Amino acid sequence: MKRTGAGTSTDLKSTRAGKAEKYKPVPIPDELTETFWESINQRRLVIQRCQNCRTYYHPPVGLCPECLSTELTYEPVSGRGTINSFTITYDARQPAFEAIQPYTVAIVELVEQKGLFMLSNVPGTPADEIRIGLAVVVDFEEIVPGRLIPQFRAARSTRQ
Ligand SMILES: [Zn+2]
Repeated sequence: MKRTGAGTSTDLKSTRAGKAEKYKPVPIPDELTETFWESINQRRLVIQRCQNCRTYYHPPVGLCPECLSTELTYEPVSGRGTINSFTITYDARQPAFEAIQPYTVAIVELVEQKGLFMLSNVPGTPADEIRIGLAVVVDFEEIVPGRLIPQFRAARSTRQ
């Protein structure tokens, strides 16, 4: 099988009948991220955690940089966080993103641990209303049938 580039896989491209560029890139799980993506497909956010020193990691690691333990497993997290930093894209070069521009690319800090970051768009909130410190909560976007990605939305209905 021939790889078609980062973020897409050959089998998905063939089912799209050459219209792959109209979809957001689909994650390709590897040994380290397989559990993460399987959970995401079931609308559950899990984050890798060292079972020795209890430090969370995202993206996943093969060895705990804090204590060198290899006892790393995935644990469910609250899905709550705040926007730590963000940028607004007005000139996307990929049709699936062009269709939603201007859109936000945010670094979300999860409440579970200082410095535990995830990268996300912030669907549902106009780009000019995004602020650092905005409380967000995880949601899941189905980019192709059965394949989801985590996306954080403003937690407006939840009092913080
Ligand atoms: Zn550790």
